[in-house]
Amino acid sequence: MIRFIKHYIPKTNTRTRPGAKITPSSITIHETDNTQVRANARAHALLQANGNPRQASWHLQVDDEPEVYQSLPFTEAAYHSGTYKGNYSSIAIEMCVNQDGNYQQTVLNTIQVINFLKAKYPTILRVIQHHHWSRKNCPRILRSATVMSWTDFLAQTNKKTPSTSAKAIPYQSTNHLFPKGSHVHLTASATRYATGEKIPNRYKNKTYTVLQRGSNRLLLKELYSWVHTKDVVALKQAAFKVGQKVRIKSSAKKYARSTKTIPKAYKNKSYTIQQVGQNDVLIKELYSWVKKDDIQ
Ligand SMILES: [Zn+2]
Repeated sequence: MIRFIKHYIPKTNTRTRPGAKITPSSITIHETDNTQVRANARAHALLQANGNPRQASWHLQVDDEPEVYQSLPFTEAAYHSGTYKGNYSSIAIEMCVNQDGNYQQTVLNTIQVINFLKAKYPTILRVIQHHHWSRKNCPRILRSATVMSWTDFLAQTNKKTPSTSAKAIPYQSTNHLFPKGSHVHLTASATRYATGEKIPNRYKNKTYTVLQRGSNRLLLKELYSWVHTKDVVALKQAAFKVGQKVRIKSSAKKYARSTKTIPKAYKNKSYTIQQVGQNDVLIKELYSWVKKDDIQ
């Protein structure tokens, strides 16, 4: 659930708040390109409200927290696209890329915001990149498709999410229970993803890998979706010991800590564990790290 916090640019600041009424027909996605620590949504909202030295403005700034800061009414123009048409027809969202933030969560929050806006303004027909208006390489990380492809991003914005409007998430850390890379079992009693959509039955009662952790939620690698921690049970990893003999499963693909593929000839042979990591082991004979999942 996301929550909008209104912290508007003063009306007197006509340099960045022209006050012109618009009918939003699209949403434009930006990234701040500001990787500084604490350059989060709140910081960007304050920058706008206190008088941005650049003649630039945008409606929303989103980071990895459920609080989304709104700087302008959605029916007012903002100077964000580099074009007259974009500024006078499109709602601008800046996604934060501060290095102490979780960009993946920022993207997921942005998807929720978009779904909320699309439900609120039926005149919104498209979600576009800043690049569409002025060919700027923005949103840079999203455009690079390292976290999520633009196609997948758009596909998620076509889902309906119920009541995205106003609810704070109670914070209760359970992170220690579900380390990254560990396995969890999604229970049959789970009903909805943490983002509100229904979980199809075929995804329940199965085991998944934890990709990211949030407050009371986990991003599952295989589903690429957030689930509530109350809906999963942690699975214990097999305990491996130094000196233990193991085999690399034939299903193994790549080494851990490397992008290299494990050659077929190395699989199904007996090796010795030299060192044990959190999710992988160092194989003495190969001098390579192999995922615990890939050995037996
Ligand atoms: Zn931009």
